[in-house]
Amino acid sequence: MHFRLLTWLASALLLLIFATITALVWRDRERELQVHLNQDASRLQTAFDVAVGNLEQQMLALASLLAADPEVQRLFDRGRAAVEAEGGGAGGKGAEQARAALLARVKPQWHYMQTRFGVRQLQFHLGPGVLSFLRVHAPERYGDRMDGLRHIIEDTNRDRQPRAGFETGRVQSGVRGVVPIETVNADGTTRHIGALETGTSFNTQLGLLDRQLGAGFAVLLKPEHVESSVWREYREGQRQKGGCDCYLEASSRPELKDWLTHASLPAYHDQPVSWLMPFQNSVLHITRLPLRDYLGARDATRPPVGSVLIWRDVGSLVQRHRQAQVALAGEALFGYAVAQILLLWLLRDTQRRWKLQVQQKAAALNESEARFQMLLMGLGEGVYGVNMKGQATFINPAALRMLGISGEAVLGRDQHLLFHHHHADGRDYPHADCPIALTLADGRPRHEEEEWFWHQDGGGFPVSLTVTPVLKNGVRVGAVVVFQDISERQAHAHQMRRLATTDSLTGVNNRRHFLHQLEQELARHQRYGEAAALLMLDLDHFKQVNDEFGHAAGDSVLKAFTASAQAILRRSDHLGRLGGEEFAILLPDTDAEGARELAERLRQMIDDTPVETAAGMIHYSVSIGIALFTRADGNADALLARADHALYRAKHGGRNRVEMETDASE
Ligand code: GH3
Ligand code: MG
Ligand code: MG
Repeated sequence: MHFRLLTWLASALLLLIFATITALVWRDRERELQVHLNQDASRLQTAFDVAVGNLEQQMLALASLLAADPEVQRLFDRGRAAVEAEGGGAGGKGAEQARAALLARVKPQWHYMQTRFGVRQLQFHLGPGVLSFLRVHAPERYGDRMDGLRHIIEDTNRDRQPRAGFETGRVQSGVRGVVPIETVNADGTTRHIGALETGTSFNTQLGLLDRQLGAGFAVLLKPEHVESSVWREYREGQRQKGGCDCYLEASSRPELKDWLTHASLPAYHDQPVSWLMPFQNSVLHITRLPLRDYLGARDATRPPVGSVLIWRDVGSLVQRHRQAQVALAGEALFGYAVAQILLLWLLRDTQRRWKLQVQQKAAALNESEARFQMLLMGLGEGVYGVNMKGQATFINPAALRMLGISGEAVLGRDQHLLFHHHHADGRDYPHADCPIALTLADGRPRHEEEEWFWHQDGGGFPVSLTVTPVLKNGVRVGAVVVFQDISERQAHAHQMRRLATTDSLTGVNNRRHFLHQLEQELARHQRYGEAAALLMLDLDHFKQVNDEFGHAAGDSVLKAFTASAQAILRRSDHLGRLGGEEFAILLPDTDAEGARELAERLRQMIDDTPVETAAGMIHYSVSIGIALFTRADGNADALLARADHALYRAKHGGRNRVEMETDASE
């Protein structure tokens, strides 16, 4: 499940990376195209500006040439004088004659200018202000005033400086060159007559630009500009109501009209604007520039009077670009597909490896678990686990066997209450003192040599136990208890102790242990001064017994002797075999009389009690020497020597007797 999510995430990330890179490259290429188109547009714009500049210079030059003709000056001056004399405006007869003469005079030049330079206008204006004297291009219209309309002429008439610029007049718009016309007086001074204007349309220049640059050019005029200036009968063409609400002033290509009437242009701006437009299976890149007239060129706050359209067929360029973009998308898609497949393969492979690793680990874990279970099951020691509440979480068969209980009865139960509730001697075993509870509380491992567990049948048995805390991720979660039934060990130890201290034949204290008891009693006597006696006993003529009845019978006699002696001794008395058929008895809290009495009783009993052996009844006797403890006895040796001495006397006295040490007070 996690892996599927991971796959989705990785794939999404991959897709995002590819999409982002593709989008970036895509955008970069789009920008590149845009920059290319913009650069081209600005080149075309510059070319247009330069062409218009040239046109203006041309117009100025042509006007200047004509204005320099003295005959033109003279005839124009005559006309001026006539208009002034005949009441201004169109003037009268005199003005008429002068006008006709002037027209006749400039006609050849006018034709030449038309054919050679594409001049469309030639006009003489009188100042101040603008009074049309002669329109060579429309000779029938004259005498009208154009103050406030033809600023370029007005300005030249005022300051007598030549000027050029685009302006719209009564008959047409055009690029104009205006120069003052002056004449020289008889006294050599010059006199200003008026202004001469030449004008041309953009058409010829646009055609030239088109041929040179391979781009279409057109000049559009705003309807209000045209309609407020040009007389109705001179308005060329129709107001284009379709794509642009404008008058088409000039165009380098005829097809413009088609798309201009069908396609709509973006809202007109006073700033240059460019766009791509599909046209007849191709694409045009169009730039629209504001067109400023003479006044507008002087005063940038005035709105443009129209616009210049420049368009280039960029169909193949755009197609190449689009093909490249499609190729890019295809490559990106292919690249993504390959990367995605690679990613999926990689993820699958990784998943496979992981699974394998997990399986291997699980197998190893299972094996280890099985080994652990086997160990736990086969272990002679009892093992069980408890949680932090002291409840059993698992328990092995050995433990169940020792406790005589079933697994169901133990698991989940408080083990202390179940089989650890009392000490061996029956005292209450508080929960808080339990070493398992202590380990659960402080996390320290513990070992107890001797604890007591209770069997289910009510009996108990000694155990040694080890408690080890169990940590999970560094946190204590419980403990494991390992215990052993040590009853056999204890019995064995007891047995060893017994073997070390007793005589193997008779079971009474051996010499070494007896001497140890004697030393202890001696020390006690020295501390407390209580009376005590030591009896030395030797069986009489025992060599003979052996000789007569055999060694085994002798052994039986030795055993019978100790049994008889033990029968009459108190619990606090000690009997020891010093060697062979020699014995000693230590009688604490016994004075001389008590000692003698006991010795006598024993002697008598032995004498009266023959031993029945396989070899027959054996009568035997014992000789006894008594020594009493004195404060002067520094060690056991002196005491033993005194008792031995008394025994010696008993032997010599005829055996089967009791003798007290000689200096003992009776
Ligand atoms: P007395 O009356 O002077 O003590 O004479 P006795 O024969 O008892 O003394 P002796 O010391 O000469 O002999 C002791 C004998 O005790 C010798 C030995 O064979 C016998 N004896 C010592 N230890 C054992 C034993 O463990 N078993 C048997 N059956 N005989 C033993
Ligand atoms: Mg002896
Ligand atoms: Mg003897």
